[in-house]
Amino acid sequence: MKLISVVVPCYNEEEVLPLFYREITRTAGEMPEYEFEFLLVDDGSGDGTLSVMRGLAGGDERVKYLSFSRNFGKESALYAGLSRARGDYVALMDADLQDPPALLPEMMRAIQEEGYDCAATRRVTRRGEPPIRSFFARRFYGLMRRISKTEMMDGARDYRLMTRQFVDALLELGEYNRFSKGLFGWVGFRTKWLEYENVERAAGETKWSFWKLLLYSIEGIVAFSEAPLAVAAFAGLLFCLLALFFLVFVLVRAAIFGDPVAGWPSMMCTILLIGGIQLFSIGVLGEYLSKTYLEVKKRPIYICKETNLP
Ligand code: UDP
Ligand code: MG
Repeated sequence: MKLISVVVPCYNEEEVLPLFYREITRTAGEMPEYEFEFLLVDDGSGDGTLSVMRGLAGGDERVKYLSFSRNFGKESALYAGLSRARGDYVALMDADLQDPPALLPEMMRAIQEEGYDCAATRRVTRRGEPPIRSFFARRFYGLMRRISKTEMMDGARDYRLMTRQFVDALLELGEYNRFSKGLFGWVGFRTKWLEYENVERAAGETKWSFWKLLLYSIEGIVAFSEAPLAVAAFAGLLFCLLALFFLVFVLVRAAIFGDPVAGWPSMMCTILLIGGIQLFSIGVLGEYLSKTYLEVKKRPIYICKETNLP
């Protein structure tokens, strides 16, 4: 019998975890032709998530858990789950039931019968989300389409089912700064996109503030595009041309009309503008450098404190 591993990152999800367990076991019951393992990854929760996991594992040997020594972030939790999953197929799913487990049979059909390597989901609506967040999310995907070669689907969720081959390819990308949405696109293969309406969280609250998301999007840009690095070179070239043009203009004007000394305001504007562009460019460089710095340090992506995995 083929094994499906369901990887679930959990950060302060004590309220919703029992509900999730009920739903996922119901779905597993509807797919008797497969064996299941539920790999719950506790991302350093401060509430009772870990004891809920221990409880679930005590009553059901399909439940495996792994607990981090601190909060490493969802990307690390996903990586840990993927690297410890043994399944022939691996599903990634949020604990909050925003990723309906009931879609699993349909995803499995796409892989088994239609020959896809991966079945992924995207939301077609962003109902229930603050409008400003939707606005920036759309801009982000629009920008990424233009500046990155890696394909990133608008509204894509991390909820997906993958073949073992797909997972092994993902695991080969052992980078420290993990931006999953990009990694999924980067490895290629054939992905079927299933669309569904946004579902609200079953209980508990979102872990993503607007700022956290903004920083995350910058991470995505740095990880999957080199275009910002070219901005400085481009702006530099533009200003050189402009300066050349201006030089000729000033010389000719001085030759014809003489040179009445004036123009302090225009001088200040120029200095501020160019200074600003220089600082911005250094900032962009710094952003890439800091990511490189973290990458070369080769720190582990997560540290496991407790697990019932062999
Ligand atoms: N999560 C995590 N570590 C974090 C933040 C979130 O493992 O630092 C998990 C969280 O428990 C949930 C999933 O990632 O299962 C998605 O988080 P959330 O529902 O808060 O995000 P949203 O659905 O609002 O984007
Ligand atoms: Mg959620």
